[in-house]
Amino acid sequence: METFPIRFITDPGLFPLCRALRMLGFDALNRSNLKSSDVIEIAIEERRVWIRTNPEELNLQYGIRYFLVSSWEVPGQLEELDRQFSLKFLADPFSRCLKDNALLRLVPREVVLNRAPENILKSHDRFYECLVCGRVYWQGSHLKRMAKRLAEWGWIIKMTNGK
Ligand SMILES: [Zn+2]
Repeated sequence: METFPIRFITDPGLFPLCRALRMLGFDALNRSNLKSSDVIEIAIEERRVWIRTNPEELNLQYGIRYFLVSSWEVPGQLEELDRQFSLKFLADPFSRCLKDNALLRLVPREVVLNRAPENILKSHDRFYECLVCGRVYWQGSHLKRMAKRLAEWGWIIKMTNGK
């Protein structure tokens, strides 16, 4: 069992996986164009599992945990990760901003008045705000689409907290 929340950093080609991990509530960074030395530093300092696709590029370094995915598709990659880290047990779907990985907080309608369409403000009473980018989330069609996609991939998503 992990004694701290599991965190990840993914290689650039794995951005779809990175987003899926955020969707499931996991702390996941994408490497983007960071140099290997910077990724190594982040992985060690923040105790992130470095998810990669190419075994030949594994420059094994003390203190880093690597995870090599072999599937080319997100559902298969998630299954591989689940087998290793019990992600289905740890997931907290839709608790994180998809854009910047920050945690969302539940806010009252008054706080998001100018940041959501009027019909949404009228028909919903639970809103989630990203404290980093200010993006507002609610249980709308976008979130339902994501939940449907996760379900198609075999991830049973419990919508907690009325999300
Ligand atoms: Zn954000």
